[in-house]
Formats: sequence, structure tokens, C-alpha cells
Amino acid sequence: MQPQSPTRTITEPYRGRFAPSPTGPLHFGSLIAALASYLDAKANNGNWLLRIEDLDPPREQPGATNKIIKTLESFGFQWDEAIVYQSQRHQRYHEILNELAAQNATYACYCSRKSIREMGGIYLNHCRAINKISNQPHAIRLKQSSTPLPFEDPVQGKLEQSDQQALEDFVVFRKDDLFAYQLAVVVDDIDQRINCIVRGADLLDSTPKQLRLYQLLNATAPSYLHIPLVLDSSGSKLSKQNYAPAIKPRDASNNLYRALQLLGQNPESQLQSATCEEILAWGVNHWQWERIPKTMNLKNQPLGNEGENHEAED
Ligand code: GLU
Ligand code: ZN
Repeated sequence: MQPQSPTRTITEPYRGRFAPSPTGPLHFGSLIAALASYLDAKANNGNWLLRIEDLDPPREQPGATNKIIKTLESFGFQWDEAIVYQSQRHQRYHEILNELAAQNATYACYCSRKSIREMGGIYLNHCRAINKISNQPHAIRLKQSSTPLPFEDPVQGKLEQSDQQALEDFVVFRKDDLFAYQLAVVVDDIDQRINCIVRGADLLDSTPKQLRLYQLLNATAPSYLHIPLVLDSSGSKLSKQNYAPAIKPRDASNNLYRALQLLGQNPESQLQSATCEEILAWGVNHWQWERIPKTMNLKNQPLGNEGENHEAED
């Protein structure tokens, strides 16, 4: 008997994207997200767009945007359509915030991190009923649905959330005067008509929040697929926060081959000496998302350059 394969709906014409935040250079985990989203789009004859999520200047690294673009180019990735920059879309985010406010779907929240900690660490929609209007700095929160929005990922399975998490009103405009990721990402995906999102499992928890935005904005939600996070040889997540090494254009084809392997695609060994373009073309022709594993661990098979940036900490 065939094992039951998870279900997935793909709408055509397929429009996908890769949406890095320029908080540092691309690391191996983000390369895997770029590759999976690219192969999934191209295997479905789709368009694949690049969007730079430069929404949070204090967390950005000067020059990171250019580095990311150069690195993607050196890996042979080609995106369809012009790159969209979130830093140029503030007016649109404002419009949508106004639209949500007009629906009475948002409210001002004056809670500080400290006060939320004191209330038990989870924001329990404290300011929703208060309706306080004041000049004090505040965030804007979106009212979450009173019935939790379920989400089942084709690779990761059913998202397990406590009711408190599922019902939490979440921030769409930050107290420090910045648009929140949840808002911008949904507005952009709607405006760019993205209907299939392949991204890292670190964003799994965000999905029900984003589904709520689609609901309130009367838009059809895309289908999502969350690829596993890459764990380094010590079992911790590869991320900019823990100084995952930047990937180097000169190791591009090795890294691509390795990424294909980790995505469960069984690349032929001759491909190891192929160019990036050849590896990508093979990947498109042989792509099977059903083979993506639920977890990826670099244990026992470290990346060539892994650990380089850890030297300073040793
Ligand atoms: N900009 C987000 C990140 O780099 C990804 C957004 C998304 O794919 O939804 O983590
Ligand atoms: Zn509050």
C-alpha cells in the first residue's frame, strides 16, 4: 500500500517568492528557503519573485541587501519581475492600516514588554476592551478571530497552538513607529498576487496571524509549505542570530548540491561537478516536494564552512 501522501493545493498560474530581510548576508538556512521556493515555483511553470523585506532599519546591516542580491545571482537564481522593497511601500501599509481601523479590527495597545511579562508573559488582549486614547506611545494590534484559525502544513503537519496563542491579538504597527512584519508581508503578498508560499518553519507560528489578515482584507490566502529549519552540528537552529556563517559565492555549486540533498531530492552524484545553472535545472526537473523531510540536521555531516564564524566565541 502506498503511504498516504499529504495534500496540497496549487493554484495556477503559480506565483511564488523569496522574501529575505537584510539583517545579514544569506546563510545556509536562507539558501535552502530560496532554493525550495524557486524549485517549487519553476517545477510548476510559475513565476518566482524576489522581495527585500527592509522594514526594520535598526536590525538591518548596511550593505546586506546588495550582498543578498549578488549572492543569489552568483547561485544562478533569476527572478521574474522587478524586486520589490518594503521600504518603498509605507504609504500602502498606511492605507491598509486605515482600512482595518475603519472596520474596527484594530486598537491601540499601551502595554510594555515588562507589563506583559507581569501579566504572565502572554498578551491576553488586555487593551482590547479598554479603548484608551492617549498620546503615550502605543502599538496597534489586530483583533484575532474568536475562533482559532486552524492550519495544517503539508510538510510540518497540524500546527499545535494553545488557545491563548491562537486568540492573541497581534501587533500590526509597532510602538517604535515601524510597520510590523505580519502586516507588510500579507499586504505585499496580496498586491503581488502570490498564491504559493514556500518558506522556513520559523514562520509557522505566524501563519494563523497572516490568515487572519487575509480574512479581514477579503483576500484569498495562498497555500503555504514550511520547510524544516536547518540545525547545525550542535543541534541549534542556523540563523543570523546565532552567527550562522554566510554562504560564499565561490562555494555556490557545492552549497546548492548540498541544499538539494538536504531537501531530500537525491541529486545524482555527477551533479557534484556541475554548474549552478545545471544543478538548478536538474532540481526543477526532478522536484518532488513530498520528499522534503520534516527536520534537517547537519549533525554527522557538517557544512564545509560551518563554524567559521564561531571562532570568536571559542
Ligand atoms: N522576511 C522574512 C524572513 O527573512 C520572511 C518572510 C516570509 O517568507 O514570509 O524571515
Ligand atoms: Zn495593551
